[in-house]
Amino acid sequence: MAELERTREHAPAPSPAEWSYAPAPESREVVSLRERYGLYVGGEWLEPSSTYTTISPADESELAEVGEATPEEVDAAVRAARGAFENGWSALPGAERAKYLFRIARIIQERSRELAVLESLNGGKPIKESRDVDLPLSAAHFFYYAGWADKLEYAFPNRRPKPVGVAGQIIPWNFPLLMLAWKIAPALACGNTVVLKPAETTPLTALLFCDVLRQAELPPGVVNIVTGDGSTGAAIVKHEDVDKIAFTGSTEVGKAIQRELAGTGTKLTLELGGKAANIVFDDAALDQAVEGIVNGIYFNQGHVCCAGSRLLVQESIAEPLVAKLKRRLETLRVGDPLDKNTDVGAINSRMQLEKIEELVAAGREEGAEVYQPPCRLPEKGYWFAPTVFTNVAQSYRIAQEEIFGPVLSVLTFRTPDEALEKANNTMYGLSAGVWSEKGSRILWMAERLRAGVVWANTYNRFDPTSPFGGYKESGFGREGGRHGLEPYLAFDESEPWGG
Ligand code: NDP
Repeated sequence: MAELERTREHAPAPSPAEWSYAPAPESREVVSLRERYGLYVGGEWLEPSSTYTTISPADESELAEVGEATPEEVDAAVRAARGAFENGWSALPGAERAKYLFRIARIIQERSRELAVLESLNGGKPIKESRDVDLPLSAAHFFYYAGWADKLEYAFPNRRPKPVGVAGQIIPWNFPLLMLAWKIAPALACGNTVVLKPAETTPLTALLFCDVLRQAELPPGVVNIVTGDGSTGAAIVKHEDVDKIAFTGSTEVGKAIQRELAGTGTKLTLELGGKAANIVFDDAALDQAVEGIVNGIYFNQGHVCCAGSRLLVQESIAEPLVAKLKRRLETLRVGDPLDKNTDVGAINSRMQLEKIEELVAAGREEGAEVYQPPCRLPEKGYWFAPTVFTNVAQSYRIAQEEIFGPVLSVLTFRTPDEALEKANNTMYGLSAGVWSEKGSRILWMAERLRAGVVWANTYNRFDPTSPFGGYKESGFGREGGRHGLEPYLAFDESEPWGG
């Protein structure tokens, strides 16, 4: 027995090849794509004046032709939204609006496999993430906000909440359906109508969602979906009859939108980039922390605004922690997003891949030490191996700039004060993680971290009841929870309650 234990202790770690899994591809059959999609305006498919081809980033195969909305087409969508707002939707009792939201939530659940496959196909994320994270959370957001639709006066007592009007919503490519849910669910619950633009590289689940809306018999014009590139987004922002803009994306575009809207009175919320610190103290459960670090930065290929892209580790445990982390990386399976065993899928676009490559090259040049586990990347499509940088200085670009890819920068600290100083030394302030056995230390850190969300002994957990949003250049306004209703409401506080 003792002999057996000794052999086990000294047995070499199994190589990734020994652990290899048989392919387990999810069937594409469940999705039936059209060759060409129009713009969804006033409950109808409008023939677009021009189109572009959307592809699968995993193999660059063409998936469909999609409309590229011009300012005139955006105007038609805004007019449809205004018409629906004035002709009944805003006056509908909350309980009636809730029925539609509940219906949408249920249909998303019923069609979740189809939506998940399409999300992975068009965006490159692993099917197990679309299936187990994006889809359940998207449905949960509709369920959650359906519950608020008839309780707005309880959410904001004595403030007479009323809808804002037409909401223009611009979303990114990292969580296409989930970001759509984050934006559309609270807007409709509050009685607004919507013009939404999905990102150029990931329009397909938003277009399939139009089918969901028809199935739910949502009145025409309440939700309008216009596809296109940044210029379509800019046309929504510039449109004079839009009352509120909700944007998720890069800080650069967020700033441009803020400049455009300054002085117009249009309500604005911005959910922008991040460079979160994931902080591990020497008393943390290391194996648990390693899982949290992996989930923090390699989930969705690191295309996550709140990704734990800076690992701050207490100096005394840096060596064993990094060794464990490297060993764990060897077990990550990179490849076909539709394979149920895949952990890390395709990079969303060639442009994003080039940005990651550029920043990783900068990290090498600046003197950081790079580690990538051995893995064979597919020849076609856009791929990047999970990467860890050690010996990173605070001033390096990889410690300052959002890479938005599967790249982790490791820095060390000695005291909680130093950890805090380094964590807050960023222009962003969206999220952070703290790993420690001591509750008092977690609370001490959480109070001082300039971050909208602080996870303790976990990372990348989302829930519709919990507000999400940033400080500093990560933007302003909150999505989720009761807080997520406020940007979609105007308040009539001129008369006292009951007056
Ligand atoms: P963008 O900010 O350009 O894209 C976000 C959305 O805004 C897309 O729908 C985009 O359309 C649209 N858009 C682009 N320009 C304008 C404009 N002038 N007015 C209105 N809407 C506009 O992000 P990118 O896709 O270019 O990504 C660049 C970087 O941004 C990433 O590398 C990452 O660092 C960060 N990012 C952060 C996200 C987050 O969740 N915080 C999400 C996505 C990116 P289109 O897709 O057609 O360009």
